[in-house]
Amino acid sequence: MRRHLTQELHNFIERGRDRQLRLAVTGLSRAGKTAFLTSLVHQLRHAGLEARLDLLRAAREGRLLGAQRVAQPDLGVPRFPYDAAMASLDGTPPHWPAPTRGISELRLTIKHRTRRARGLLGDTATLTLDLIDYPGEWLLDLPLLEHDFLSWSETQQTTMGSERQRLAATWLSAAEALAPDDEADEGQLAEIASHYADALRASREAGFADLQPGRFLLPGDLEDAPVLQFFPLPGVREANRAELDALPETSVYKTLARRFDHYRRHVVKPFYREHFRRFDRQIVLVDVLGALNAGPERFEDLSRALSTLMRSFDYGKRSLMSRLFSPRIDRLAIAATKADHVTPEQHPNLVSLLESLLAEPLKDLRYADVPVKALSLAAVRATEPREVDNDGQRRAALRGTTLEGEDVLLFPGDVPPRLPERDFWARQGFDFTAFRPPYRDTPELPHVRMDAALDWLIGDKLK
Ligand code: GDP
Repeated sequence: MRRHLTQELHNFIERGRDRQLRLAVTGLSRAGKTAFLTSLVHQLRHAGLEARLDLLRAAREGRLLGAQRVAQPDLGVPRFPYDAAMASLDGTPPHWPAPTRGISELRLTIKHRTRRARGLLGDTATLTLDLIDYPGEWLLDLPLLEHDFLSWSETQQTTMGSERQRLAATWLSAAEALAPDDEADEGQLAEIASHYADALRASREAGFADLQPGRFLLPGDLEDAPVLQFFPLPGVREANRAELDALPETSVYKTLARRFDHYRRHVVKPFYREHFRRFDRQIVLVDVLGALNAGPERFEDLSRALSTLMRSFDYGKRSLMSRLFSPRIDRLAIAATKADHVTPEQHPNLVSLLESLLAEPLKDLRYADVPVKALSLAAVRATEPREVDNDGQRRAALRGTTLEGEDVLLFPGDVPPRLPERDFWARQGFDFTAFRPPYRDTPELPHVRMDAALDWLIGDKLK
């Protein structure tokens, strides 16, 4: 009797402690955040019914009873547009949801049964899961906190390669014509800043990812705000710091420096302080296949951008993050998305390629003792794996429908297991086709390993 009571009390306390989780989803534009979050909500809502979630232990054991959307706590944050996204996937023909462009949020309550010894089912319990989606571009701004305007301007000049300079030609010629000691002209600075934003967007379109400041690409609610009207000043050097600092407040240099500083203090820091610091778990989505498709220069750029992005998760004692914000994320997943673009036997290579792409940041995370798991997944599986006969040999292939509506059967290529050598691009490269989401005659949304991701991210809270 006594033991029984103690156990009951223990269960009660456990339940009180673990009932809430804030799970954040990020990735650079087009990494697949919108598709991922839509599928995640859909899978959980259909858990215990049609959804196939065998790799999620609570589902496999028949303990997941379902999930419901409830009102979110942060009234100042837009709600993730789940219904609109599902309407796109359910359309005729089905199409991909419009991507989200800022931060958004959705709260689910997940009902499940607790585990008991010898496979017996326990009491019902509820987990409140807050899902937060935000642009990975915003994390590219972390290094700005280590810079002032002068040092930032200098680094931007060194990281801008020839192709990016070509894409930024209009901005560059206007900015080079400015002298740091010129009297600042509001209209002129706004115009040059908009050329700078255009140049960043053009670079983004061309597949580059290591681009700052992040809000210039995805301004969220800051569209056209003066805080975004600055840009790096070409030609300024650390050696001239004293002279530059002595310029009048109305000079071009001082005006841009003030705006840069304002951006750091009023845009970058508040995001970390008010949102990032409160996340419990995080998944970072990476479109490895997209970068592989775009060629060597973009692939290297993605690798640089990811190193910058991942610095936000480096909680080593001396890291900028832990000094400034003491974040509490205790579990991290990194996922190569859109795995349905390649045949299943390529998936292990996709994961090892992702791991080599993130080798340095992963080393730092392991050193800082942050548990992290790498996986490959498809939020919405748009293809069917097939086998074809190729000159008497069986070969894996994919069947799907292109965005233009053409049914195809193809082999998109081998995924290299490590960072590709120069000759990979010359020898074979990689060529994948974009597929449209599948027509479905049952409510279930086909996926690849969404259940594995869920098991890692929330499984321990469904015990
Ligand atoms: P976001 O900008 O990070 O929100 O990215 P989206 O979720 O909008 O995804 C960008 C595009 O990638 C989509 O429009 C789809 O074309 C494609 N995509 C995303 N997830 C998947 C997936 O699981 N399978 C396939 N085949 N394509 C996907």
